[in-house]
Amino acid sequence: MICASHPALLKHSPPRGHPEQPARLRCIYEALERRFGAGTVVSLYRLATKAELYAAHSPEYIDYLFSLGRSETALDDETFFSKDSLECVLLSAGIGLELVERIAAGTYRKCFALVRPPGHHAGSSCARGYCIINTMAVAVQRALSLGFSRIALIDWDVHHGNGTQEIFFNTASVYGIDLHQDRLFPQETGTPSEIGSGPGKGFTLNLPLPPESTGAYYCELMESTVYPLLKSYKPHLLCISCGFDALCGDSESTMCLQPQDYGALTGIVCSWADELCGGRLFMVLEGGYNSALAEAATAVWERIILS
Ligand SMILES: [Zn+2]
Repeated sequence: MICASHPALLKHSPPRGHPEQPARLRCIYEALERRFGAGTVVSLYRLATKAELYAAHSPEYIDYLFSLGRSETALDDETFFSKDSLECVLLSAGIGLELVERIAAGTYRKCFALVRPPGHHAGSSCARGYCIINTMAVAVQRALSLGFSRIALIDWDVHHGNGTQEIFFNTASVYGIDLHQDRLFPQETGTPSEIGSGPGKGFTLNLPLPPESTGAYYCELMESTVYPLLKSYKPHLLCISCGFDALCGDSESTMCLQPQDYGALTGIVCSWADELCGGRLFMVLEGGYNSALAEAATAVWERIILS
């Protein structure tokens, strides 16, 4: 198992007061090393190439991001591009690529990518919701190319992963399951009626949850609804878009999860990975804007170590 990141990811700098700040990652580093010792977070430095990004994004969009270079601009009302943002999004995607390649090579079975900014709102041709490059989608495309022909992708960030859904909406090779607070952001997607299209019809599942849902409710839903689907799908790899913004007190939601609930959820998916796909589990940090995310990340890593 490996928990990977790189301090250069702290350089992406949205304006002061923006929820997505370097402190998110810094406090996770500190908590993990305090709990598990120095060296727990392994530094990996690999920048994704244009060709690697084209697998999940349109060439026009990627070429546009590269053309921005080290300029500072707003990609939309809440998604900002600072002078080091290009390096950070290429590095986030590169870490994801490196980890799925190591999983495919059999070097590791369970990997946790601690990256920023988050990625799951970034669609094939646009930035959105603090997200610029869809790290998870880039990694999943690589996993598909390496022979994992059925990938289960669970997104438990409190927001609907609209970008990831769009990218894999037409394929049966990725079973996308998204648990999110109902009509939070983005409000126009994430309904149960969105089930995929073409060959992908039936391989998208949205589970919008009411405000103030608890960790116990999440776990019950995972066991009762998600597990039977995955058991029959027989994935080769289990991927988790791991946002921590359903934590009680997060500024972006009104859910009621406690840090240890993320440990419980991780225990569930670790056991599914062990049962269904040779232990292969790839987790990517998405959102989470309350300082309690450090404790939640610690609970996640503890369960991975125990599995
Ligand atoms: Zn989120």
